[in-house]
Amino acid sequence: MRIVLATNNEGKLKEFRSLLAPWALDLVGQAELGIASVPEIGMTFVENALAKARHVSRMSGYPALSDDSGLVVDVLRGEPGIHSARFAGNDASDEDNNNKLLTLLGNRKNASRSAHFYCALVFLRHAEDPAPVVATAQWHGSIVTEPKGTNGFGYDPLFLVSGLQQTSAELNSQTKNRISHRGQAVQELCAKLAPLL
Ligand code: IMP
Repeated sequence: MRIVLATNNEGKLKEFRSLLAPWALDLVGQAELGIASVPEIGMTFVENALAKARHVSRMSGYPALSDDSGLVVDVLRGEPGIHSARFAGNDASDEDNNNKLLTLLGNRKNASRSAHFYCALVFLRHAEDPAPVVATAQWHGSIVTEPKGTNGFGYDPLFLVSGLQQTSAELNSQTKNRISHRGQAVQELCAKLAPLL
């Protein structure tokens, strides 16, 4: 079964291919089909994931899977949240975003650096599917004061995983995929999709 992944993020595409490998699905990224991104104008991760899945399904004619995820920092009232990818501006690099976050948190103590990654996944059988399959998950931790680790992408070097003395950029990809927000959401989604596929 061919499914279009509504993302242009190479890091996510790689994680999804590995997470969904046991399903032997033909996963194709939207860029491979020449589909442009839809503006993310929702106020929540779920709204944005739904809009992205609907757009790529409409443009491709295939079922679509989308992910909208980001980092939610409690003391920043949930920012960067749905703005995670563009936190420091439209063309911001991961490093720019990380620097902005560190600057905003300044020298706050550990207790006020709590955060979680949030992931919303949406699967649509077709663009007009009135009953999307939705799965969400959170991964808790806190923001360190300087980057550590070189694996992963985005805010991984700043995210100290709850219960571990490591940032998510210090985890190998198998460990991250097993416990992360996306890993947990994929497990939930697969359980919901199993009867449908
Ligand atoms: P999206 O592509 O609009 O969902 O933006 C997701 C953004 O959230 C990414 O560009 C990263 O900045 C951040 N993000 C989401 N998941 C992760 C993760 O697993 N590690 C690090 N950063 C993440």
